[in-house]
Amino acid sequence: MPHVCLVALTGFRVADPELRELGLSLPGLRRRGEAIAALPALGLLTLAAHTPSHWTQCFHEAAAVDDALVEELCQHRPALVAISALTASIEESYALCTAIRARGVFSVIGGLHATALPQEVLRHADAVVVGDGETAWLSVLGRAESGSLQGVIRGEQFRMADSRLPRWDLLPPGKRRRFTVQTSRGCPLACEFCGASRLLGPYRQKPPQCVAAELAAIKAIDPGAVIELADDNTFAGPDDPAELLQALAEAGLPWFTECDWRISQRPELCKAMAAAGCAQALVGVESPVHSYAGMGPKGAPAQRMFEAIAAIQDCGVAVNACFVAGADGETRQSMEQLGELVAACPAADVQLTLQTPFPGTALRSRLAREGRLLEDRTWKHHTLFEVTHMPDQMTVADLQSGFRQLLARLYSPAEARRRAKMRHQIWRGRHKLVASE
Ligand code: SF4
Repeated sequence: MPHVCLVALTGFRVADPELRELGLSLPGLRRRGEAIAALPALGLLTLAAHTPSHWTQCFHEAAAVDDALVEELCQHRPALVAISALTASIEESYALCTAIRARGVFSVIGGLHATALPQEVLRHADAVVVGDGETAWLSVLGRAESGSLQGVIRGEQFRMADSRLPRWDLLPPGKRRRFTVQTSRGCPLACEFCGASRLLGPYRQKPPQCVAAELAAIKAIDPGAVIELADDNTFAGPDDPAELLQALAEAGLPWFTECDWRISQRPELCKAMAAAGCAQALVGVESPVHSYAGMGPKGAPAQRMFEAIAAIQDCGVAVNACFVAGADGETRQSMEQLGELVAACPAADVQLTLQTPFPGTALRSRLAREGRLLEDRTWKHHTLFEVTHMPDQMTVADLQSGFRQLLARLYSPAEARRRAKMRHQIWRGRHKLVASE
């Protein structure tokens, strides 16, 4: 029987040692890093569900690529090693491909980075999957089996109704509390800095009965599981969310998601989210100094978004407001104002990242045209915490140091405690709201 090793390069990556140190010492940042590291790689577990029965397979989560990992994989005598990596870990995935290919084993990489830059990936891996993996997977395995795996393999647009239960059983043993469920793919908007809206094809929603089946399977594994919806913008589509919310409510598990602030204009939806167990919605406030192209109706002044955040929280859903520093127009003074603005934001959690030109985004194309990509900041620096482009109104050093100061302020122990208290107040209030209806 041929064997495939599925390898997810997981964990929170920061290449800059000073930032790494800051991340370890600030409780808010550390909590975020731990939450990201705890999420299982949904893409590979989904592909595993489409693997034909004459193949055997195993799943590996690796925080780093080293000899021990290569040995561990080779012990399975695989015909193929399939790797999922984000931009920040793509260079490690290339090193893994080199080591694996030296042992005569085929390698393939898929995901957003691979879809954006297939020719780059092909310099390191035997093959690259572009687009939806589910529809390319049989071809990848067939070619590996026949010894002819090479080049670009394009996945056709996957029908969400054909979704299968991810192979949670392949996860390493141990108590895992966070699980990911995808209810939609892509986004109807097209923010300039976002890859998901362009690389994943048109916005598609998964039938609620498929979501319900996944939730039931997770609950059977861990009745105390926490669900992270692996969506880019839940509830942004035209479908009536009632059935999806019913599935979530029936599962009875707390869940986190990503939305845009306009859900506040649908108070019934926000209340139904809270009643269905939504603990927190991540909402992009983005940059207060720059209105990105492609945001469409999501674009609004920060104060309007703050009102929306307060309204969502009044319904019992805590909001994690996401701010971006380093967009065009950012200055030392505006960075200081950003600190004030974030501190004044009513959200029960905040997230601050640096503008990052990921491959496949309109932002990267524009900055490349303007000659503003920093060539020495290779992919491992695309962590959302390191400057990778030339700002238009300040120096790289000033942006990086201003960002560090902001991180230290916003993720300080006192701030982390204050926002944790806010979250608990909102959740307590939600129980009262639900009980009174
Ligand atoms: S709303 Fe979010 S997911 Fe949609 S395009 Fe903008 S950043 Fe991407």
